[in-house]
Amino acid sequence: MGLPWIGRLLLFMQLVHGVFCWGKYGHYAVCKIAEGHLSEDAMGTVKKLLPNWAKGELASVCSWPDDIKWNYNWHWTSSLHYVGTPNFKCNYKYYRDCYDSAGHKNKCVTGAIFNYTKQLFSAYQGYNPRLKYNLTEALMFLAHYMADVHQPLHVGFTGDLGGTGIKVGWYRRKTNLHHVWDTMIIDTAVKTFYGSDLSSMIQAIQRNITDAWSQDKSSWEYCIHDNTVCPNLYASESVRLACKFAYRNATPGTTLQDDYFLSRLPVVEKRLAQGGIRLAKVLNQLFSFQVKIGRSSR
Ligand SMILES: [Zn+2]
Repeated sequence: MGLPWIGRLLLFMQLVHGVFCWGKYGHYAVCKIAEGHLSEDAMGTVKKLLPNWAKGELASVCSWPDDIKWNYNWHWTSSLHYVGTPNFKCNYKYYRDCYDSAGHKNKCVTGAIFNYTKQLFSAYQGYNPRLKYNLTEALMFLAHYMADVHQPLHVGFTGDLGGTGIKVGWYRRKTNLHHVWDTMIIDTAVKTFYGSDLSSMIQAIQRNITDAWSQDKSSWEYCIHDNTVCPNLYASESVRLACKFAYRNATPGTTLQDDYFLSRLPVVEKRLAQGGIRLAKVLNQLFSFQVKIGRSSR
């Protein structure tokens, strides 16, 4: 007997959405880079919030929202990993674009970043400690979605599901464009340039942050109006990069090889760096005790 229609629909949605995420390497890299830029206060609070199974390492829990999203109880989170823009529009607008497939507003990656930042803010910087949020989950979601919003095709066109609908070849393998950006570019780089060792790639990115990109770091951390986090800016950058680099020369049926890989890898590495630096900046601000003392004394 076949699956009932609801079962088939859920299966289809899993197939469609299952690839909507930086792979495990991407999430691990963003969180590892962030860990290296956390203040002492922030690191202390992060360690207190982490579940036991994290063994004190933020990076080890950063793929958790991907692991749980197909569990029935967590299904509501599946639209929080991305945001779609209208077809061929290389810009992003919160009020136009941030909704889920049922049309519920704010149910997208940028909405999720605002939401979990607010939850942590209210607990650590705000005035309402009686609000009952699960702050461990808030931290793990925030760390995950901060990375997702930096993957250019997490802010891709709705018509092709952020590149998932564009079937391409990656060297000898068949895949889709979204998966190339989530996983294949990083995997191929780790194998080709870093002796199959992800930590070597992360170290190379960290060296770039203190060297070639050191002038850019403070501009990455900047948020308009001194906001704690600015996901709308990160999403706008992503869709521009999606148009300029991800979709370009990657029409359906194309086989992507060295030309594409070598020209896009620097974009991926920079987005991992920006995601990590910005995640650290948000956590440093949220978990800064100085700010709290300063405010409460006013
Ligand atoms: Zn995700």
